[in-house]
Amino acid sequence: MDCTYKTNKYKLPLFHTVSVTPWNTTFTSSYCFIAHEKTEDYIWALRAMNEAIQIETKPQVIITDNEDGLTKAIASVFPDTKHQLCLWHIEKKVLEKISKKLGRNEGTESDKVKEFLTEWTNMVNHSTVSEFEDSWAKLQEKWNETASGRDVIEYLTNEYIHKKEKFVRAYTNHNLHLGNVASSRVEGAHTALKKCLGGSTGNLYIVFESMEAKLNEQHIAASKKLSDELQLVPNRLNIPLFEQVVKKISSYALGKVYEQYLKFQRYHQSKEELPACTKYHQHALGLPCAHTLQNQLPRACVHVEQPTAFKDIILELPQLQMTDFASHWWLQKTSVHPILLPLIKTNNDVNTFTQNLNISQVGPGVASSNQILLDHALSRIGSQFNKLPTHQQIAMLGQVVGMAESDPAISKAVLEPAEKTDGCGHPVGAKNKRKKIQA
Ligand SMILES: [Zn+2]
Repeated sequence: MDCTYKTNKYKLPLFHTVSVTPWNTTFTSSYCFIAHEKTEDYIWALRAMNEAIQIETKPQVIITDNEDGLTKAIASVFPDTKHQLCLWHIEKKVLEKISKKLGRNEGTESDKVKEFLTEWTNMVNHSTVSEFEDSWAKLQEKWNETASGRDVIEYLTNEYIHKKEKFVRAYTNHNLHLGNVASSRVEGAHTALKKCLGGSTGNLYIVFESMEAKLNEQHIAASKKLSDELQLVPNRLNIPLFEQVVKKISSYALGKVYEQYLKFQRYHQSKEELPACTKYHQHALGLPCAHTLQNQLPRACVHVEQPTAFKDIILELPQLQMTDFASHWWLQKTSVHPILLPLIKTNNDVNTFTQNLNISQVGPGVASSNQILLDHALSRIGSQFNKLPTHQQIAMLGQVVGMAESDPAISKAVLEPAEKTDGCGHPVGAKNKRKKIQA
């Protein structure tokens, strides 16, 4: 999300948010004019946006420029959403600073500037926190030796390092950012809008009309793409691995997993071990990776010395399921039944599955051992559920609802609110309570 200017004669900033489709294309998700760019203006805009969307489409990640007012507003309106800062803008600012401090030649980048920028870029792109911290320590040590280097280090410390979780890849790669680390998508949308407007002398209605035309265009394009996807499956995706998910998961996401399948095949055939899994696919893209595929096979198949032939492996590979994909990639979204909404964790609290499902802790001697085992298993499942990222929780609950709806008895038990009991197992207000025996 970002503001764009020079769209209207009143000089009002246009606050614009764009999102990503299951086909990895960009679409406008909201826009409005704001009077100023203060925290309260952004809070108003984000609240209006929040009211218009459902919990299933609440943003998992928001990417903006480094702007304090907007940062505060996001933390206030979307406390569960991961906020990232545009890497490209940070690099631009850092380059400006180091050119001023370390560059000697006017207009050209000195060797020192290039050297510093390369080290900075490598540092923010590390995939583990320890690598990042190591690089930052080395960068400080090296550049603190000169006065100009110290100035740059001080600037970076004050301006960016305390916000490292918002832009350093070692941290942001745990967010479901779908591969986005810069705000280039919204800037592309601004450029397209301005081409339509042809100037900044129009009134607000002209901007509104252009935006509405764009929204219509994108709606038509998305509807067409969706109907194509529901009918046709690209040939290469017609493999047993995808049998349960074709026409249900976007072909873009399946294509990404297909690349991982080929990677797994390549390593397997060359009898090499896959490099260690960074979990980037699972966390940042919400997709299974080559390791996921390998881990699903019996150990004997992946024995590096005497591997099973790949054509036989294909037969052993379990088919991928909807829950292996973040719901972002689903072609048809399941909405979570309202009664199950409290199960979805909010604000990282300990809103436990078992507490919400009111799974009773039955003491031994009262219940059968099977019941105790079941309670124990459910409580274990509950704690696993709490550890899942929100998108996987939503995906799982979607499946629970699907299962429940296919059977009226289960449906009643799962989807209707549990009757409150009075502590003796009787519904509140029930008439046939056993009378308490007076001593
Ligand atoms: Zn992996």
